[in-house]
Amino acid sequence: MDTTLLNMDASLNIEEWNGKEQWHPMGHPNDMLQKPPLIIKKGKGVHIEDNHGRKMIDGFAGLWNINCGYNRQEIKDAIINQLDELVYYSTFKGTSHPRSIELAHLLMEMTKPENMKRVMFSSGGSDAMETAMRIARQYWKMEGQKDRYKFISLKQGYHGTHFGAASVNGNTRFRRNYEPLLPGCSHIDAPWTYRNPYTENPEELGKICAELLEREIQFQSPDTVAAFIMEPVLGAGGVIVPPDNFMPLVREVCDKYDVLLIADEVVTGFGRSGSMFGSRAWGVKPDIMTLAKGISSGYIPLGATLCNERIDNVFKANNDSFGAIGHGYTYSGHPVACAAAIAALNIVIKEDLPANARKLGNHLMNRLKPFENTYKTVGDVRGKGLMFAIEFVKDKTSKKPNREIVSKIHKKMIEKGAFVRASGNAIIISPPLIINKKELDSIVDIFETSLIEAEAL
Ligand code: PMP
Repeated sequence: MDTTLLNMDASLNIEEWNGKEQWHPMGHPNDMLQKPPLIIKKGKGVHIEDNHGRKMIDGFAGLWNINCGYNRQEIKDAIINQLDELVYYSTFKGTSHPRSIELAHLLMEMTKPENMKRVMFSSGGSDAMETAMRIARQYWKMEGQKDRYKFISLKQGYHGTHFGAASVNGNTRFRRNYEPLLPGCSHIDAPWTYRNPYTENPEELGKICAELLEREIQFQSPDTVAAFIMEPVLGAGGVIVPPDNFMPLVREVCDKYDVLLIADEVVTGFGRSGSMFGSRAWGVKPDIMTLAKGISSGYIPLGATLCNERIDNVFKANNDSFGAIGHGYTYSGHPVACAAAIAALNIVIKEDLPANARKLGNHLMNRLKPFENTYKTVGDVRGKGLMFAIEFVKDKTSKKPNREIVSKIHKKMIEKGAFVRASGNAIIISPPLIINKKELDSIVDIFETSLIEAEAL
């Protein structure tokens, strides 16, 4: 065996290797050499550092997941203790292990208001959505309604990359190259106050979009629709915050036609939108909730799909092969991931991170909203808790998207020490939930200076 292969010092060739050898999610392979990514080497608290020693405040919490911040001793200890005790055992029928049992119990306690009764673990958000869609289909088969296999979701919604999740994604960019996707998936307009053909009145819009759901259920024929899927606040689609009445009205429509409601809480779960769960902020109890990202604060990949009593009861009542779950992953409930999650959720609860997100989210809104009037390119500022989007336009009447200024601002912000996400014509700010006011203000200050400079170019 040629052991010289193992003498790798990535620091010598880091940009070149990265550009030539790795395909990055959601990027064009050629871009990686022409527009090389930041290579992040270190993280502590809310700060990250790249391979050139450049320090930045992380205004995007990794990928909406590092809610408890980087390098937390409690989470690292939990991971190391678990590695010492048991690195892996499966949770396939016949075996289990203490950490998955403890985490399942903690999640059931945390979702008592939603009446959740069961959890199935996986390794991320796409896995969790795949699980949710399969459970929904199996539920209806067990109920004797075998034609109920269809899913309805929102345009601009994002639910992941497996064929199931991709089929309910509402963005052509994530669908087009992989079609045909699952049959029976359709989409309705999202309640996007800034961009919709109906009305500028949020309450009216919430009603109209709930009516669109009702009409789509009727069009598909109610006895064929398994579930409606939505993010309580749409994240990757550009932080679209539905009007207050939308999700409660959706619940009513789902109940009217006996359609299951799946809440994709992969981003909104565990405090991001200012409540422990996004659905809770709207006072809605979904039938199924998908969780990932913040569940382990991003330290180890983990996903979870939670089901309420209605679904649990039907599985329990079907004692034959119908009720058996023909689904699951080698890493469903990986002990190290579960240990990390228990430690992370302890921090979320003890430090009341949802309350911090709520409080600082209000502060962020107070600081950013006036930018709509102050700056000619700022079209819309929206957010809830600590998830915000600032949309840039060429002019405020046509609302033509201004992507050019976004890349200029993004670049300038990195130079000045703040990393945020550039997404089309929007800047997204969504920092770790442990952030304090001073740190958050420094992101806003850097954003404002960069915006002024970019507008002057
Ligand atoms: N659902 C939502 C709402 C998401 O934002 C994401 C990822 N950004 C996913 C699902 C998919 O999660 P993952 O990338 O962990 O598979």
